[in-house]
Amino acid sequence: MSDLLAHLNPPQLAAVTLPPQHALILAGAGSGKTRVLTTRIAWLISTGQVGPSGILAVTFTNKAAKEMQARLAALLPINTRGMWIGTFHGLCNRFLRAHHREAGLSAQFQILDSADQLSAIKRLLKNLDIDDEKYPPRELMHFINAHKEQGIRAAQAEAYDSFTSRRVELYREYERQCQREGVVDFAELLLRSYELLQRNEPLRQHYQARFRHILVDEFQDTNRLQYAWLKLLAGHTTDRSVVSEAGARIFAVGDDDQSIYAFRGAEIGNMRDLQREFELPNVIRLEQNYRSHGNILDAANALIKQNRGRLGKNLWTEAGAGEPIRVFEAFTDIAEARFVVEEISELLREGMSRQQIALLYRSNAQSRVLEHELFRLGVPYRVHGGLRFFDRQEIKHALAYLRLLANPDDDTAFSRVVNFPTRGIGLRSIEALQETAQRVNSSLYNAAASLAGKAGASVAKFIRLIETLRSETRDLPLPEVIDRIIEESGLRQHYLVDKEGQDRLENLDELINAATSFLQEDEDHPLAEGDIVSAGGPLASFLAHASLEAGEHQAGEGQEAVQLMTVHAAKGLEFDAVFITGLEQGLFPHENAAQERDGLEEERRLMYVAVTRARQRLYLTHAQTRMLHGQTRYCLPSSFLDELPVELLRKVNGGTANTAAATRPASAGGWQQAPAANNGLRIGQNVRHARFGVGVIVSSEGAGAEARVQVNFGAGGMKWLALEYARLTPA
Ligand code: ATP
Ligand code: MG
Repeated sequence: MSDLLAHLNPPQLAAVTLPPQHALILAGAGSGKTRVLTTRIAWLISTGQVGPSGILAVTFTNKAAKEMQARLAALLPINTRGMWIGTFHGLCNRFLRAHHREAGLSAQFQILDSADQLSAIKRLLKNLDIDDEKYPPRELMHFINAHKEQGIRAAQAEAYDSFTSRRVELYREYERQCQREGVVDFAELLLRSYELLQRNEPLRQHYQARFRHILVDEFQDTNRLQYAWLKLLAGHTTDRSVVSEAGARIFAVGDDDQSIYAFRGAEIGNMRDLQREFELPNVIRLEQNYRSHGNILDAANALIKQNRGRLGKNLWTEAGAGEPIRVFEAFTDIAEARFVVEEISELLREGMSRQQIALLYRSNAQSRVLEHELFRLGVPYRVHGGLRFFDRQEIKHALAYLRLLANPDDDTAFSRVVNFPTRGIGLRSIEALQETAQRVNSSLYNAAASLAGKAGASVAKFIRLIETLRSETRDLPLPEVIDRIIEESGLRQHYLVDKEGQDRLENLDELINAATSFLQEDEDHPLAEGDIVSAGGPLASFLAHASLEAGEHQAGEGQEAVQLMTVHAAKGLEFDAVFITGLEQGLFPHENAAQERDGLEEERRLMYVAVTRARQRLYLTHAQTRMLHGQTRYCLPSSFLDELPVELLRKVNGGTANTAAATRPASAGGWQQAPAANNGLRIGQNVRHARFGVGVIVSSEGAGAEARVQVNFGAGGMKWLALEYARLTPA
C-alpha cells in the first residue's frame, strides 16, 4: 500500500485518498491526473472499500483504456476482471449487448461507424427521392448526431421553419430505417443506453447498486448526454430530500485548456455543472508537471495564455530547461516528411525506442506522405485512429458478408456486397429491389424473393450464397468462418486479379488473424461474477469490436513502432520525442476554425495538447507547398509559431540556400514569410522572365551555382530554370 502511494506529491496524495465523495480534479497537462485516477482505483480496491466490479472508469480512446488496464494490472496483485473500463461508446455497447431486448434491439445489432452512417443516410435520401443538394447527406448526419448528443429524438426535435421541419422528418425516417435494419450509430449507442436506464427502474437500480465509484478521465470533453448518463448511473437526484444510499461517487479529472471536442458537442460547462449539482466542496488542483522539460512547458504556457476565459492555472516543473524546440521549414510536404523520417532514424540510432516517438498531424489526410517515407526507409510505424484497418475497403467488404450472416436485415451490408464482386446485378435492379423493399416495408434481403426477371435470378443466387455460407459455417470457429467467406464470396479471387490486390489480400488474411487474437483475448478475460453474459455470441462481439476498435496493424502486433496519429487521438498520451507536422495556416489552425465562434481558441487548445505530449524533444515542422486533396497548396507558416517565445526555438536547416532568410528576425511581429527558395525568391512567389513572362515558383532544388527553380508559366507551361542564368525578377 505505501508503495502504491509513495510516488505521489501532497495534492496528488490528497486526491487519491479522498474519502468516498464526489470530486473534481482540475489540473494542467502532465500533472498526473490520469495517474491519480488510476492510483485511486487501486487504492479503493486494495483498502477493501470496493470490489473490482464496483468500479466504472471512462476514458476517451481505446488506447487510453488499454493503458489504464495495464497500469492497474501492474499496481494490483488481484484480478481486475469485472471492472468496467472503457470509452463511453465501448461501455454503452457492453451495456446494450447485455440488455438488447430491453433496449429494443436484436442480439445481433450492428454498429455503424461514421462512414457507414453516411452511406445509410445517402441510401435513405435516395429511397425517399430527396434532392441531396438541398439536403446534403453530411449535413443531415451532423444534424441528426447533434440532436442525439443532446438527448433529443426526432419526436422531440424542434422545427422552427419548413426546412428544419423537413430535416426533422428525415431524422425520423432515419431512426426507422436503423431500427428496421437492426443497426445503431455511435451517438445512438449512448442515447439508447441512457433512455433504457432512465425508463427501466429495476435495471437502473441494479447498476446504481453495482457501481460504487465512477471515475472519469478527460472530463472536459464530455458532452451533455454523456454527463446526463453519468449522473443517472451515479443515482444523482436534484431532490435534496432523497438521500440516495445506492449510487456511485463521481471522481472526475480534467483540464479546461485541453477541451478539444466542442465541435462534437462537448460542454466545458459540464465542469461548472458538476461542481454545482454535486455540491463539490472544493476543486483540487495539481500544478507540478512531471512530463516535459522546461522549454516545452514554457512554450505550452505561453501559447495557451493567448486564450481568454480560462479557469487559469500555471504549470511548473522541476526538470531542467532541456533542449530547445526545433523548428524546420521544408519546401514541400515530401521534403518535410523526409526530414522527419531522417530525424527519426537519427533518434533511433541514438537509442530512443520507436514507441517513444510520435508523429502528430491535424488532419488524417496528412498521414499518407509520412507513411510513405517511413515505409520507404523501412521504419515500422503504426497509425492510431483515422486510417483504420477496419476502414479499408476489402475489410469492409468481408465484414459486410459477416454482418449479413449475423443479420440479414442489415441493408447497409447488403447494398455493399450484393454486387461485389460483380455478379451482373446492375444499379437498376438494385433500385428496383429498394423500391420493392420500401413498398412492402421489409429489408432488401427479404424483398429479394419478390424481384422478377433476370435481375431476380441473380439476386436469388446471391441470397443462396449467403444462406449456404450461413448453414455451412454455423459450427465453425470464427477465423474459419471468415476464411470461408473470403473464399466463397469470390473476394479472394477478385483481389488475386486486381493490380493493387496483393496488399488487400494481405489485409484479408490479417482479418483472419484479427479474429484469432480476438477470440484469444476473450478467453483471457472470461466473464466475472456479476457480469451479464453478452448475447449474440463471438460473431456479434467481433463485429462490434471491428466497429469500435481503431486498427493498429501497420507494424506487426507487438512490434515496436513509431506512433502516427492526429492531435485529437494523442490526448492523454506522452512520448519522449514528438513531431508536430504541417504547421501551416489553414491546416493548423484549420481553415474551418475561422468560421466558428471560438474556433481559433479551440485550435489553440489543440496545439497546446500537441505540445504537451512531448517529454524531452519537440519538433515543429511546416512546408511551403503541400499536396492536399489532389492540389498543390502554397502555405504560410502557422500563426501558432508566432506565439511561441523565440528564445525557446531553434530553427534547423530548412533546406534553403539562403540562410539569412531562414533565420527568424526577432523584431518582426510575424513569422517571416516562407523563406527564400533561392536568391531571395520563395516558393509560391510570382516572378517575371524576359521570354516566358509572369509565372509562379512551384519548387526548387540545389544551391548556389546549381540552384534551379521550377516555374509554372500558365499557358507558357512548366519550366525548370537555372537561377544563375534565368534572371528572374519578382513580379
Ligand atoms: P494529460 O493532461 O496530458 O492527460 P495527466 O495530467 O493525466 O496529463 P499523467 O499522464 O497522469 O498526467 O502524468 C504525466 C506523467 O508524469 C506520467 O508519466 C506520470 O507517470 C508522471 N507522474 C505523475 N505524477 C508523478 C509523481 N508524483 N512523480 C513522478 N512522476 C509522476
Ligand atoms: Mg491524462
